[in-house]
Amino acid sequence: MIEAIIGRQHGTNCLLMVIGGQGYALSGNGTVPKTVSSSHCKLTVDDNGTWKLSNIKAELDTFVDGLQIDTKRVSPSSRVELGANHFVLNMHKVESVIRQLQPAVFSLRPLEQIWKNYDDEKLQMQNKEMKIANFQRLQGALSMSAMLFGFIPQLGVFRWVIMGLALLIAIFFFVRGSMVSNSLPMKLKKLNDKFEAEYLCPNPQCPRFLGYRPYNQLQYDRGCPLCQCRYTNT
Ligand SMILES: [Zn+2]
Repeated sequence: MIEAIIGRQHGTNCLLMVIGGQGYALSGNGTVPKTVSSSHCKLTVDDNGTWKLSNIKAELDTFVDGLQIDTKRVSPSSRVELGANHFVLNMHKVESVIRQLQPAVFSLRPLEQIWKNYDDEKLQMQNKEMKIANFQRLQGALSMSAMLFGFIPQLGVFRWVIMGLALLIAIFFFVRGSMVSNSLPMKLKKLNDKFEAEYLCPNPQCPRFLGYRPYNQLQYDRGCPLCQCRYTNT
């Protein structure tokens, strides 16, 4: 929210816009007639970018597009005149000052897909990890049964065949499981690195990583503490 008081500066007779104690000249010295007061009208710009102009005192005159107003919604293209002499307010100058002061607004939307991709890939990796754990359990069970068969002399030569087969399968699962589990931490690190490079403040100038937070939680952030930009969800 920006609040600006517009009026004639005593002494210099230029048109001055004062925002938060800071003055911005809107016209040259000696250009403003005495019918413009030192606090003539107030311009407010809300967080949605809506401009509203108010005449400050009843005895003053403020015109928007030819009509006298108390309070009226205006835009940079409105024709605004001050005082009985219809001094024209340079709205383009007003706009350029407001632009400088208003925080930039960026949409969080593009981050939705980045979070979704990350979340999906991570889930896949976790499933893989679970599969590995199952392989290892199976491998353990097979080794144990192979050993037990060795203790049944009634099976004769057959027990060696079963033992050999079970051992072969156990070795297969062992090798396969360790191959996958060795590559997993690297893959996870790569995924996290990529995510940390992409899940950034939507202001292209700002390098702030938004953290490992789901997209739907970002909507509670009003803006960036680093670059001071504001966020929207649209
Ligand atoms: Zn930022």
